[in-house]
Amino acid sequence: MPKVDLLVRGGTIVLPGGEKKTPVAIQHGKVVGHAEVEACQVIDATDLLVLPGAVDAHVHYNEPGRGDWEGWETGSRASRAGGATSVVEMPLNAQPPTLDADAFQKKRAVAENKSCVDFALWGGITPLNLDKLEELGRAGAIGFKAFMVDSGTPDFPGSNPATLKKGMATAAKFGLPVSIHAESPGPIRQRTEEIRKKGGTSVRDYLSSRPIETELEAIRLACDLAGDTRCRLHIVHVSCPEGIEEIQKARQRGVDVTAETCPHYLVLTDEDMVRLGPPAKCAPPLRSAVMQKGLLQKIHNGEVETIGSDHSPAPGSMKTDPDFFKVWGGISGCQHLLPLLFSAGLSPLEIAKLTSENPARRLGLHPRKGSLEVGADADFVLIRRQATQVKESELHYRHKITPFIGMNLPVRIEDTYLRGRKSGRGRFLSPLSSS
Ligand SMILES: [Zn+2]
Repeated sequence: MPKVDLLVRGGTIVLPGGEKKTPVAIQHGKVVGHAEVEACQVIDATDLLVLPGAVDAHVHYNEPGRGDWEGWETGSRASRAGGATSVVEMPLNAQPPTLDADAFQKKRAVAENKSCVDFALWGGITPLNLDKLEELGRAGAIGFKAFMVDSGTPDFPGSNPATLKKGMATAAKFGLPVSIHAESPGPIRQRTEEIRKKGGTSVRDYLSSRPIETELEAIRLACDLAGDTRCRLHIVHVSCPEGIEEIQKARQRGVDVTAETCPHYLVLTDEDMVRLGPPAKCAPPLRSAVMQKGLLQKIHNGEVETIGSDHSPAPGSMKTDPDFFKVWGGISGCQHLLPLLFSAGLSPLEIAKLTSENPARRLGLHPRKGSLEVGADADFVLIRRQATQVKESELHYRHKITPFIGMNLPVRIEDTYLRGRKSGRGRFLSPLSSS
């Protein structure tokens, strides 16, 4: 083999078959071999783990329009520091929200200018834009996101079953996946009203307004609709093992459905939400320690397909209300995506599968993304097993708010390479251009 651009040598590489002590040879931004060859530049990865860059299929950067919440520059820098080399951005918090081809192109242009990770974009399914889904598909949307419950953003309303069914049927025609925020609006509204009538404003009041039954009911309904429409369904941020069981049951009936969970459900519990307050507010809410243990067991059993950060930031002014129901629901966490999963006790191979290979496969980005096999983009993360503490001063987020400040993590990320380079701009990814 002639001299290559870059050789990563001496590290433990996490490949789809397991960990292997082997070099990685890189030419023109792609993995070209796993043998010792001459290279223009060598990275000494002795004592380091080398994982494929994460494909974080769940981030909210909120730009254009709400760049003051986060923005592509700070958001992508934080994601990259957390081990992601590709992200898929959610359609709801930008202005305009990503509900037609014009909004899609506007967001793509901002991201091409500012992102330091490769990126794809979700289009939205809402009652407002069912006639725009085909143009979103043609524009290169990776898939569609819908809410069964209020999204928190008035210009991105939730979908009732009839709307969801129509949206899923269109997505199925394109072969694109639909990701769903599954919580049942009716029971949550009813419980919330009862609690509010009694003057409830606390974290525990909020927790009791969204018990797991409200999540399970929505997951069942979403799976039934996906079965009817033959749509590829991805349930995002599943918070409890019972939710994974519902998804397994649907799969056994032949529904093409996968599950995502998030680091915060694996390292924080409902008691942490009480202790930490607004920075730890999310929906579905954090669950009990028993459920967390059950969810981790589901991961070890191979019953959870993907993990995304659900990085969902907001300005400090929206994270301070003494009435917990009025606090913005969303956790900032993309900067510690991979270290948090080590902290939760996942193995390097599990982490590589759940954050890289499986999301890349599910979203049609594999084999270009998702592994360090020959032919893939040379997206990789160098990780050292060394205790490290999350410090506020090191956060890249526009707003230095996260429930993880002060947490001790078992690893630190040394560097993240995108297509063989330590710095540089991200590129647009779409299922139309995945090889
Ligand atoms: Zn989200």
